[in-house]
Amino acid sequence: SIPLGFFGGIGASSRNGILVKGGNFLEALNEVGTVVFDKTGTLTEGVFEVTDVVTDMDRHEFMGIAALIESSSPHPIAKSVVDAYCGQVDRTMIREAKEIPGMGVSLTTTDGDIYLAGNSRLVSIEGKDASLQGTNIHVSRNGSHIGTIVLQDRLKANAKETIAHLKGRGIASVMLTGDIRENALSAAQDLGIDEVHYQLMPEDKLRILEEKLGKGRKLVFAGDGINDTPVLARADIGIAMGAMGSDAAIEAADVVVMDDDPMKIATSMDIAAYTRTVVY
Ligand code: ADP
Ligand code: MG
Repeated sequence: SIPLGFFGGIGASSRNGILVKGGNFLEALNEVGTVVFDKTGTLTEGVFEVTDVVTDMDRHEFMGIAALIESSSPHPIAKSVVDAYCGQVDRTMIREAKEIPGMGVSLTTTDGDIYLAGNSRLVSIEGKDASLQGTNIHVSRNGSHIGTIVLQDRLKANAKETIAHLKGRGIASVMLTGDIRENALSAAQDLGIDEVHYQLMPEDKLRILEEKLGKGRKLVFAGDGINDTPVLARADIGIAMGAMGSDAAIEAADVVVMDDDPMKIATSMDIAAYTRTVVY
């Protein structure tokens, strides 16, 4: 039988905007040793501001191309690029668009031109100045670099308090990201994160999580489901950021934070602890 207190705990969670998919996960939240965070959209807003556009083309025309390429992607970077373009994207020009997870997007137009938008793994910037501050999205047409968009994300208001609150409970924080070293290290330092891994492909995130599994207390992974759904599914407890997250993330997760507030990760553990005192 399931102790009644677990239902109480699940009710308390849902009143706080935290969906817990069963009493066993509530119980497991008492055993957490480490929370592994995805960076973008989990610890950061995932709403990027365009801080610079470097191109020899007309800026508006260039942004129109970038927005067209990114209009097929659910990634927070893609949404931010589309939002930054003050114009209408003509999606009838698209023959084929393909997301390349952890790198960017490739697009073939009805004219047969091939465009890429993404990081320097996807778009070669050899011989170009590649040291712009922020997250750089390079765009190429038929193999030639035509410009770079510089984007800046912001840490969520509660992110630092969340890490401190977890630390107070004796829980370590790890950050995983596909972003570059500089952005990863500055975010980790600002937040007080214990361990950081950067420039990861989606499969690297899964590998790092698997290396940490089964080594003691329970492992939480918290992400938005963009390029990290397998990691959400594999963790002892997968926590999805529900508002920004995809349906696949909500499906794969064991706990869903409906309003994307990272502090709710700590709150879920507080409720789990309280529920246990009521049960036993
Ligand atoms: P994170 O680990 O920060 O959540 P991702 O694994 O989703 O990041 O992406 C890693 C990197 O891949 C991004 O920082 C970006 O450089 C690039 N990238 C991924 N998707 C896109 C996209 N749609 N457009 C441009 N760049 C992208
Ligand atoms: Mg992500």
